[in-house]
Amino acid sequence: MIIKRYIAGPIEANNYLVADENSKEAVLIDCSETVEKILDDVKNSGLNVKYILLTHGHFDHVMGVNDMKQKLNAKVLINEKDKSQVEMTKTILSTFGIHVEKNPVYDEFIDGNTELKIGEIPIKILETPGHTEGGLCYQIADKLFSGDTLFKNYVGRTDLPGGSFSKLENSIKNVLYKLDDATEVFPGHNDMTTIGYEKKHNEIVQ
Ligand SMILES: [Zn+2]
Repeated sequence: MIIKRYIAGPIEANNYLVADENSKEAVLIDCSETVEKILDDVKNSGLNVKYILLTHGHFDHVMGVNDMKQKLNAKVLINEKDKSQVEMTKTILSTFGIHVEKNPVYDEFIDGNTELKIGEIPIKILETPGHTEGGLCYQIADKLFSGDTLFKNYVGRTDLPGGSFSKLENSIKNVLYKLDDATEVFPGHNDMTTIGYEKKHNEIVQ
């Protein structure tokens, strides 16, 4: 499995390209802007990006979707509970002085029961509300893509609309910390970590 990270968008979010080397099938996890390097890497490696998987609906993770979806010919998937977040994108961006034609468009809603694969590798979808109501983490083989739920040494903020610290704490303790300690965690911002490291060293939830 190949994992590539691209730091993108106005708030330096991590977008990850995850590919199965055998089948050449891939997913893009979060999509913060049009990143030429992603398009080049996809082309040069002959990848077929099946899905753009959104960890949640905050503008800094979804604002590249409309353009990248077309360029990659990929389906955009998100939890229905974050629909209202996505639909605030245009309004929120205008407060930053950024004008966009329309809100990000998604194709299908997914949740913990949805089954997805790249090649023969299953993608497990974990429902982790707290940072937003519809927050999802994606477990692909032994790697976890944690969006803004869990960061290295820290957790996602819960003071924005739809946030709840008690839900976030529950998601981290009872969903993410149940994973194997060796699980590598690729968060929505900043550097990677592991479940075992966070259980010992996270400043907010241990
Ligand atoms: Zn967020």
